[in-house]
Amino acid sequence: MSTTTSTDTRVRRAIANTTRGEAARLTLPAWVRDLDLDAVDDVLGWRDPKAPGRAVLLVPEADGDGVVGVALRAGDRGVRASAMCALCRTTHAPGRVELLVARRGGAAGRGGDTVGTYVCGDLACAEHVRVERASAALRPDPGTTVDERRAALRERAQRFVAAVLDRGEG
Ligand SMILES: [Zn+2]
Repeated sequence: MSTTTSTDTRVRRAIANTTRGEAARLTLPAWVRDLDLDAVDDVLGWRDPKAPGRAVLLVPEADGDGVVGVALRAGDRGVRASAMCALCRTTHAPGRVELLVARRGGAAGRGGDTVGTYVCGDLACAEHVRVERASAALRPDPGTTVDERRAALRERAQRFVAAVLDRGEG
C-alpha cells in the first residue's frame, strides 16, 4: 500500500475555485486518475463525463511546483461560426469553440464574479497544438512550431488561472 496521496485526491485539491464539496462531486475521467501529476507539463482539460456542462482545466504552475486546476461551466452550445481558442489559438470549424466560465476564487467568486473565455470545447488544447497539418476542421496557430504553441498555451493558461484566482501579475 502506498501512503502517498492518490492522484484523484490531488487533482480535486488542486482545483482552486470550488468548495471541497463541489470538487468531491466532480467525476474525473480514468486517464486523469492515471496521470503522474509531478510530470505534467501540458495544459490538460476535460469535460465531466457525468455532467458535460462542467469542465476542468489543469495547468502546470509557472514555478514548476505541481499543477493548479480551475472548474468551468459551459453554456448551451458552441460558437456558430468558425472560431479560435483563446488558450491554444487553434481555429476550429463552427461549433467547436465554446464559452467556458469560471467562478473567481475567494470573496469575488462567492459574490458571483466569473471569468469567461472562448476555448476548445473539448479542452484538448494540448492535442490540438501538436497537430502538424492544418485542415478545414482544425488549424493550429499559423507560423509557429509545436514547441512554441505548447509554451504559449501554458503561458496563456497560467494567465487565465491567475485572473480567475486573482493572483495579479506573476
Ligand atoms: Zn484550445
